[in-house]
Amino acid sequence: MRKDCAAVVLAAGQGKRMQSQVPKQYLMLEGKPVIYYALKVFQESFINRVVLVTVPEDIDYCRKQIVEKYGFDKVTDIVAGGKERYHSVHEGLKAVRADYVFIHDGARPFVTEEILERAYECVARYDACAVGMPVKDTVKIADIDGFAVSTPSRDRVWAIQTPQVFAYDLIFQAYTALIEKEQELLGQSVKITDDAMAVETLTDRRVKLVEGSYENIKITTPEDLQIAKALLC
Ligand code: C5P
Repeated sequence: MRKDCAAVVLAAGQGKRMQSQVPKQYLMLEGKPVIYYALKVFQESFINRVVLVTVPEDIDYCRKQIVEKYGFDKVTDIVAGGKERYHSVHEGLKAVRADYVFIHDGARPFVTEEILERAYECVARYDACAVGMPVKDTVKIADIDGFAVSTPSRDRVWAIQTPQVFAYDLIFQAYTALIEKEQELLGQSVKITDDAMAVETLTDRRVKLVEGSYENIKITTPEDLQIAKALLC
């Protein structure tokens, strides 16, 4: 029997790279806010509950203009996020409980039921997994002056997406430790940018990578919105 699955969907980013007053997850894409598309996939999937994380001043907008308007009744809570993505995830995790938790960027509208299924199979086996795709371009590590210093072997480099899926106790423990050690990590210039990194850095567990799709893009900069429009056609 399938274990109890919940999702934390993140929408508390300010989207500075979008050069827009409206945060990227609320920009309109073919008449609907970007975040609608991911919430719809979760609503129609095996996920039982969704916690939506946004900035305090957008909680009301989310409730009325997204959750109620589109009938997303799996959204049980809308909670306030924090300054960094990892603060927002921590707030979301505090508001949810399940066997497995799917953490997803609200700015990724092209998650699919197939991706959720693959991630479920993977987390059921390994307790920790992150969706991503092998890179197509060669990747370089640069020094602070912008000179190439090394070239990782391309067949071992993945671009990581979301959802990232974990046994609840494992990810909650990782984030609790992260918040406790935040200053120490910042002092070492370690900035946690995804959930897999929280597990890699703060627990002794490994995170399995599982195939997402090349279409599962994050809307980050203005041209991503053009690509998203083309993908919806
Ligand atoms: O900033 P980044 O592109 O990594 O954001 C990924 C996702 O995390 C977005 O959906 C954004 O809304 C969310 N986020 C958040 N709280 C923050 C920063 C980002 O919920 N403080």
